[in-house]
Amino acid sequence: MNNPLMKTFDGPFGAIPFNDIKAEHFVPAITKGIEDAESSIKSITDTKSKPTFENTILALELSGQKLGSAINTYYHLFGSESDQNFKDLSDKISPMVAEFENNIYLNESLFKRIEKVFDNKHLLEDEEDIRLINITYNDFVRNGAALSEADKINLRDIDKKLSTLSPQFSKNTLNATNEFELWLDKTDLDGLPDTVVEAAKLAAKEKGELDKWLITGHFPSFSPFMQYSTRRDLRKKVHIATSSKCNGGKYDNNTFCKEIAYLKHKRAKILGYDNYADYILQERMAEKQENIYKLLDNLYDSCIEHAKNDLMQISDLAKTLDNIDEIKSWDISYYSEKLKQDLYDYDENNLKPYFKSENVMKGAFEVAKKLYGLHFKKVDEIQTWHEDVNVYEVLDEDHSHVGVLYEDLFPRNTKRGGAWMNPLRSQGMVVGNEVCRPHISLTCNLTKPTEDKPSLLTYREVETVFHEFGHCLHGLLSDRKYKKISGTSVFWDFVELASLIMEDWGGGEGALEFFAHHYETGEVLPKDLLQKLKKSKNFRSGSNCLRQLTFGYLDMAWFGKHNNVDDVDKFEKMAIEKTMLKEQDTPGASISTMFGHIFAGGYSAGYYSYKWAEVLEADAFEKFKEDGIFNQDTAKSFRDNILSQGNIKHPLDLYRKFRGREPKVEALLKREGLLKTSTV
Ligand SMILES: [Zn+2]
Repeated sequence: MNNPLMKTFDGPFGAIPFNDIKAEHFVPAITKGIEDAESSIKSITDTKSKPTFENTILALELSGQKLGSAINTYYHLFGSESDQNFKDLSDKISPMVAEFENNIYLNESLFKRIEKVFDNKHLLEDEEDIRLINITYNDFVRNGAALSEADKINLRDIDKKLSTLSPQFSKNTLNATNEFELWLDKTDLDGLPDTVVEAAKLAAKEKGELDKWLITGHFPSFSPFMQYSTRRDLRKKVHIATSSKCNGGKYDNNTFCKEIAYLKHKRAKILGYDNYADYILQERMAEKQENIYKLLDNLYDSCIEHAKNDLMQISDLAKTLDNIDEIKSWDISYYSEKLKQDLYDYDENNLKPYFKSENVMKGAFEVAKKLYGLHFKKVDEIQTWHEDVNVYEVLDEDHSHVGVLYEDLFPRNTKRGGAWMNPLRSQGMVVGNEVCRPHISLTCNLTKPTEDKPSLLTYREVETVFHEFGHCLHGLLSDRKYKKISGTSVFWDFVELASLIMEDWGGGEGALEFFAHHYETGEVLPKDLLQKLKKSKNFRSGSNCLRQLTFGYLDMAWFGKHNNVDDVDKFEKMAIEKTMLKEQDTPGASISTMFGHIFAGGYSAGYYSYKWAEVLEADAFEKFKEDGIFNQDTAKSFRDNILSQGNIKHPLDLYRKFRGREPKVEALLKREGLLKTSTV
């Protein structure tokens, strides 16, 4: 019993004792945790008394919490602070956890009890109890608990196949990406900025070539090349190679696309749905395919003329500058960049001195204070996973305890890339029926301080900080009874509202003066710089929107109904025909064969949610703009109706309560300059 993961965390706020936890503690703690959870579940199914909310649903909700905490801590460290040995433990832990979860869903006597409580839920009064019953019951059903023995086996079979096909799809994409190389000599570098040349030099050096430059198939390498290289022949080469990845050849994904779509369709069919999208949408705010098409079509009508106009402008510029008669796909990025420089003469680097990372964090805290009365008090007595991590106790306006926030901002070798929010302890009930406050971690990989300069952020990084901080507030301000319903455990296409809307404050409207101070002079970010920034954000917004719609339509085509796809190219061409502005000029071009989001990630029938969330965010922020961006009543309503509510109701009901009506697309279109009435 010297394993800290198996003991009650009795330090300050019951926080995880990171200093005491060692790698060797995880497997024993998780093994014991699974045994304990299984025995609590056994006592649920062994009960002689008839199934009730308390002895079944609540008992299940409270079972395995020690296990949950150990697993959560493991995966947190896996992402935030781990070496290869620590990562290798997942080969043991992941299958153990998967098997444990699978066994719960296959536990027939447990499901029978849940079903009884579900059938009698009308006898209960508490809204949250009923919600927990529904969620638990649906979880079981969607994992096959209500199926016949034969269908259960079919479902497991499909899941097993999918669990190998998706990684194979990704592997092919990665291999094809890694395989592409464009070697350059000094004479081939024309137009490339120094930073791009340096990166290409470094890439070549890594392959042992000291006198050459290398462009790879990875986006950060080839994308700036396409933007800046004056060599049309080389741009063509790069474009064709990167747009036809995995369409034929050694790393062909055509069969995988067809097979994954087919298996997902079959899975949905077994569970009683017409198609995979219908299965997914049962737990989405969008609810029906019809609503998704309504959104996509509406955006399409608004952006298509703008997108055509964008293309015309670029074609004209290509003609003027280089006498090009017919613009090709490999010219677009290059002349877009030229046009951008023409229209907005500003260098993003000029903003950086105003975005010192400490100031940006302080700014985010200040916005939370102005909106919700929150205070962030730095505390030193809480253990963390790395010395760079700061911890804050979050206090409410009346100084009551809200939760704990961990802040881990800079990259290191033991941390994965990207930015994310992670609940280390979700808000909600624990054994003994005490309702606990949450512990939330905010992780980024921001520009590091150097010897002579503090950490100065790009504007995109400022947005990232506010974005993740928005997710953190959603976790911190949660006020529910049960963990399964609390914080960010909401429908997938609703979860980005809380994060995107914080970007709106970070992005400037009236909040920059809190934090955008020059790190040397203290001067507030000049208005004209801000104006330029805002204008440039809408550069080619029509084309960008159209591109997102292409992905959205293609995703819905693959998963919205069952298509006996024979030829992936033909199928794709039909699905996205109306979003194509010109004849296809790239041999072998294919989106599907490298569309990892929908074939290897969780976005099947879900790509639309990017645009869906933007619509919600722009529409919700419009309300703040109407009332004043720090209006206390509006902020209170956003907190009370959305941030604190978790998954207690369908998101549309929560949204209606805040906004007084259903979301409208106009605010987004207005912001992006895409309203039909606005001049092109
Ligand atoms: Zn997010």
